[in-house]
Amino acid sequence: MTRAAARGLCADCTSAEEITSSKGSRFVLCRLSYSDPRFPRYPRLPVLACGGYTPRPPDPRTASTTSTS
Ligand code: SF4
Repeated sequence: MTRAAARGLCADCTSAEEITSSKGSRFVLCRLSYSDPRFPRYPRLPVLACGGYTPRPPDPRTASTTSTS
C-alpha cells in the first residue's frame, strides 16, 4: 500500500498536515479540528469519507500545460 493510499482522503486534503514524531512515526494532523470538534485532531487512517475534505489544487510545477485554444 502506498503512503497516499494509507492516508486515504487526507493524502491530498488542504487541512491535512503530516507530522513526524521523535521516534519517526508519521501521522496526519487535521487542522479543521482546531475550529470544528466534529473532526478528530489525529484521524484514524485511511479516511475514506469526510465532510471536510477539500482537495489541494494541482501543483503547478507538475500540472499538465495543455492548451485548450
Ligand atoms: S478534513 Fe477530513 S480529509 Fe481533510 S485532513 Fe481532516 S480528516 Fe483528513
